Amino acid sequence: MYDFVIIGGGIIGMSTAMQLIKAYPESKILLLEKESGPAKHQTGHNSGVIHAGVYYTPGSLKAKFCLEGNRATKSFCNEHGIIYDECGKLLVATNEVEMQRMRALWERTAANGLEREWLSAEQLKEREPNITGIGGIFVPSSGIVNYAEVTAAMAREFQRHGGEIRYDSEVIGLEERATEMRVKTQHEEVIARFLVTCSGLMADRIVCLLGLDPGFSICPFRGEYYLLPEQHNRIVNHLIYPIPDPSMPFLGVHLTRMIDGSVTVGPNAVLALKREGYRKRDISLSDTFAMLTNPGILKVLKDNLRPGLIEMKNSLFKRGYLQQVRKYCPSLTLQDLKPYPAGVRAQAVSADGKLIEDFLFRNTRRSVNVCNAPSPAATSAIPIGAYIIKQIDAQLQGLPRFVKNQHPA
Ligand SMILES: Cc1cc2nc3c(=O)[nH]c(=O)nc-3n(C[C@H](O)[C@H](O)[C@H](O)COP(=O)(O)OP(=O)(O)OC[C@H]3O[C@@H](n4cnc5c(N)ncnc54)[C@H](O)[C@@H]3O)c2cc1C
Repeated sequence: MYDFVIIGGGIIGMSTAMQLIKAYPESKILLLEKESGPAKHQTGHNSGVIHAGVYYTPGSLKAKFCLEGNRATKSFCNEHGIIYDECGKLLVATNEVEMQRMRALWERTAANGLEREWLSAEQLKEREPNITGIGGIFVPSSGIVNYAEVTAAMAREFQRHGGEIRYDSEVIGLEERATEMRVKTQHEEVIARFLVTCSGLMADRIVCLLGLDPGFSICPFRGEYYLLPEQHNRIVNHLIYPIPDPSMPFLGVHLTRMIDGSVTVGPNAVLALKREGYRKRDISLSDTFAMLTNPGILKVLKDNLRPGLIEMKNSLFKRGYLQQVRKYCPSLTLQDLKPYPAGVRAQAVSADGKLIEDFLFRNTRRSVNVCNAPSPAATSAIPIGAYIIKQIDAQLQGLPRFVKNQHPA
């Protein structure tokens, strides 16, 4: 019998596991992951940005956890010898409409407590000679890191404190009883006193396994990137972001310096026809059927038909994709866009057809379930883990089996 079982070896599951074993040092904790190692899905297929917290609604969990997570991620990297680069980020306005939106972001960054600097067109040119715009905002605390490395370090930390990890263990059944949780994998049945699920692209299906109506569905969006040729590794000094259209859920194609010294362009946001399908030709008939018969997802697709079709066109035709980045980096050409692996985002959609913006959790008597953890959840993984533990603390009150460490390291 385990005290806690955690499902999911992405950054949220590993961060929670690492903090939980320090909070409950006497407990037996098992993490189950269906892949052969950690970070094989969203955590290992992202832009690697340590976000500062520019965009998020003040007071939201995203705004709070991103700010805390920015600091916590850097300090975790310092402690564990993981390389990161606090290269800063530039938001670039290229026309008057974007300038208006950038003013709103300037206010929002203030409300979110960020250090930032307003740049004129000339100041922008001085900092970034290859970038063209009529103004910009510089946010110094944004950085870059490899989140797969961060997750692997969290896994080692969890194991060092006595935690157990079983890879190649897909959870296929869950049953909540009055005194325990039964967790069934393809190999065995495990019994736990408490369950935490951090299953990313499968979050709704895991809640269904608990016998509950999740009230949301995961809509997978592919994020496709290109890699710039090596001679462009110094084309930008910072991360370069367009000013997002507030009606769109994603940030727009950006130029990202990666921690290995390369520069990527992307990601776009195209409906994925397979939840964990990374190639354009990956299609799952069952995933596609489930989406196209889901009223919430259909409403989102209908409400976003025009931008959705444009994204699809730009995904199929490189020239359209290029235009988006040439708006602010005009020297790039079609030959500069080299293939690079895509990622798939898990975006929760409510039953009434809205994209759920904030992080979302759903608890039962003996479980905490992470239901929506899109970007900036990699940045926010440490505070999200701490938040989950607070919820567990509250739910375990009165159960004598659990002894809480009052001073976790
Ligand atoms: C294209 C893209 C770009 C992004 N860029 C950034 C960025 O720059 N900065 C940032 O902060 N965030 C970014 N994000 C978001 C970030 O990557 C995710 O929010 C974060 O990785 C979510 O972590 P997770 O642990 O919830 O999910 P995941 O990493 O997807 O992990 C979930 C795990 O659960 C496992 N699992 C699922 N079902 C089962 C089951 N039944 N049994 C056992 N195991 C199971 C899966 O195999 C998987 O390993 C980006 C995401 C994408 C896709």
